[in-house]
Amino acid sequence: MTMTARPLHEITLLSQAERFKGRPKLCSDCGVCGGELRPMMAASCVFVNNKHEEFERQFHGRNRRDGDELLFGVHRAIHIARMRTPNLEAQWSGIITSLAALLLERGLVEGVITTKAAPGTRWAPLPFLARTPEEVRASAGNKPCLSPNLEVLDEVRAAGLKRLAFIGTGCQVHALRALEPELGLEQLYVIGLPCTDNTSYPDLQRFLKVASKSPETIVHHEFMQDFRVWMRHEDGHTETINFVDLDVSALGGERGVFPAACLSCFDYQNGLADLTVGYLGAPLPPDQRWQWMFVRNERGEELFELIRPSLELGQRTEGGDRRAGIQAYVGMLRKPRKRPPLPVRKFVAWLQRSKGPKGVEFARSVIEQKLLRNLVYVRDQFPRHEQRIVPGYVYRALAYTADVYAREFGRPLARVPAEAATRSEA
Ligand SMILES: Cc1cc2nc3c(=O)[nH]c(=O)nc-3n(C[C@H](O)[C@H](O)[C@H](O)COP(=O)(O)OP(=O)(O)OC[C@H]3O[C@@H](n4cnc5c(N)ncnc54)[C@H](O)[C@@H]3O)c2cc1C
Ligand code: SF4
Ligand code: SF4
Repeated sequence: MTMTARPLHEITLLSQAERFKGRPKLCSDCGVCGGELRPMMAASCVFVNNKHEEFERQFHGRNRRDGDELLFGVHRAIHIARMRTPNLEAQWSGIITSLAALLLERGLVEGVITTKAAPGTRWAPLPFLARTPEEVRASAGNKPCLSPNLEVLDEVRAAGLKRLAFIGTGCQVHALRALEPELGLEQLYVIGLPCTDNTSYPDLQRFLKVASKSPETIVHHEFMQDFRVWMRHEDGHTETINFVDLDVSALGGERGVFPAACLSCFDYQNGLADLTVGYLGAPLPPDQRWQWMFVRNERGEELFELIRPSLELGQRTEGGDRRAGIQAYVGMLRKPRKRPPLPVRKFVAWLQRSKGPKGVEFARSVIEQKLLRNLVYVRDQFPRHEQRIVPGYVYRALAYTADVYAREFGRPLARVPAEAATRSEA
């Protein structure tokens, strides 16, 4: 029996303030602290001690190489793919839930930790232990809010499961990797979702109200590679809004809507999963449902080979050069600007779409922006944590912005050695 103090189906309905009461300032509610594994918090939490690079060596056999791996994580292969027969209820083509269902069908696992919608909602996550392929398939689609998936490990342990698949975000996977030796599992398959700028359910609702003319009829939405949010409605029509037109100030700015944890997160691409499946660097248009997949280790290869017969493989695309835009972004982080007037926004949106980075280059640009923004946030809000929560690959990835960073912020981009940081904070 689970020792959960708050019923799981209620947790994700709570506001950030209610949800994080009594928690450390940096918490994404990954699920460790809501259940029996809470004593393992200090050893597993990515916001206490980010062990990403140690776990890379342990689970992938090496650290990130210079180049794309600094942004995308250790990988043996990248595939552009979609299900030959897409699941129309899925977020994209349904690779993740089809794969996890297959693991159950083949008897490779006894259960899958996956996430359905809390009763009466479309978007509030309710993580659960699926025991049948049908249950897994029915959990398709994003519920794009913080979800305490690791709390379900209590049920896994109580049921004595030995073979498990886990579907979740990077902060969850970091903790899971730390907990793995405690779980006594014979097999663990880790299927990763890329993740950035996650939030609570009430804040997601606030966001949708700002983004859409009809927030309650949205059935699918995603930040797309053409610098627009695409929102599909119940009647089938698609509404789009340029990123630059989003009135983030109505939400209290990014810091008013995203939890401190997500602004201190450096693992967009879920680098510790065996296999990561996202959409960020996949070709458009969205209705073609292309996805991209990162095979990170041997277990990831096994997963890819399992789903491969059901996949159609596509071509990587890329274009443009992100670097000048990223250097300019450093300046904007230093001096945030107000939302410009409509004609300027129209021009910027046109510029982004016609001249901006495309395909894989778009993905590099987005991930670099998040690394930069979050590094600036940690230095501003949690400077004492930098040594422990910013992994080394972040500085290597951003090294080409070091000059502009030093000019704008009057300090080096590189991490200050521990002793010097302690001296300056003393
Ligand atoms: C919060 C969140 C943020 C994301 N951000 C990005 C991003 O920035 N860039 C990118 O490329 N991809 C992102 N993704 C992943 C992407 O949107 C798709 O989920 C992924 O490509 C898989 O698509 P699919 O059709 O194969 O998934 P499906 O077959 O539809 O399966 C989706 C799986 O996600 C699980 N899930 C749903 N909500 C949550 C949640 N809140 N927490 C944990 N698991 C959940 C479901 O249980 C299901 O197992 C994000 C996903 C989530 C949940
Ligand atoms: S992120 Fe997870 S491990 Fe860390 S404090 Fe929150 S619930 Fe606990
Ligand atoms: S953005 Fe990072 S910290 Fe927040 S839920 Fe996603 S993986 Fe976790």
